[in-house]
Amino acid sequence: MASRQAGAAVLDQAGRLQGEGAVVRLILLGPPGAGKGTQAARIVQRWPIPHISTGEMFRRAVDDDTPLGQQVRQYMESGQLVPDELVVQMVRRRLHEPDCAQGFLLDGFPRTRPQAEALDQLLEEMGQRLDAVLLLEVPDELILERITGRRMDPETGTIYHLKYNPPPPEVLPRLVQRPDDTEETCRKRLAKYHRETEAVIPYYEQRGLLRRIDGTRDPDQVTEQIFQVLGVPQ
Ligand code: AMP
Repeated sequence: MASRQAGAAVLDQAGRLQGEGAVVRLILLGPPGAGKGTQAARIVQRWPIPHISTGEMFRRAVDDDTPLGQQVRQYMESGQLVPDELVVQMVRRRLHEPDCAQGFLLDGFPRTRPQAEALDQLLEEMGQRLDAVLLLEVPDELILERITGRRMDPETGTIYHLKYNPPPPEVLPRLVQRPDDTEETCRKRLAKYHRETEAVIPYYEQRGLLRRIDGTRDPDQVTEQIFQVLGVPQ
């Protein structure tokens, strides 16, 4: 039996949010390494909405060697942004799929101001509106510390952190660092975020949609703050 709690949210027995009142359209914003992937997984576990990650969609297209994959491969491989028209076209098609009737969680999109404007236009055409833009805030230095301290055990796939989740001493010598996790790569990705993506923050702030989330706290506390700002019963 569903139980009606705060606001229009309706929970089923599994604690997932259901029902007409629970249609929710969200954007998850934040620098690379802020924990967007972790939080996205938790949000869609609770809310029956698709997690739409444009990076994931592009990676799949490249792996499957589709026409879109062939068009975007060179951008992906050189770490550049895919041109806005291609991204917007892909998102447009995705948002028209039936599972988006319950809402959606966009992750990795919009990445530029023209993409944010295109999304607004697209939603207007569809008679829809965004509910909130969640910004996971983490200072660069903490992101660098989190990422560059990451090590993987190639034998078990376990991820450790030299400071926050230290490995047992006998495992330490065989741990490896992923090429993406070096300080140089991380600094480049952060600079790109500041240069290109941060411009969408004032865009949503002016529309009163921006919700700032303290991403420096532990993952459970971050999730708690997200549900709190969305008015979801805990
Ligand atoms: P991500 O996994 O979100 O870091 O995305 C991986 C790659 O996909 C990026 O480096 C870009 O080449 C491309 N990409 C993903 N989302 C977008 C977007 N919204 N705009 C432009 N390029 C994107």
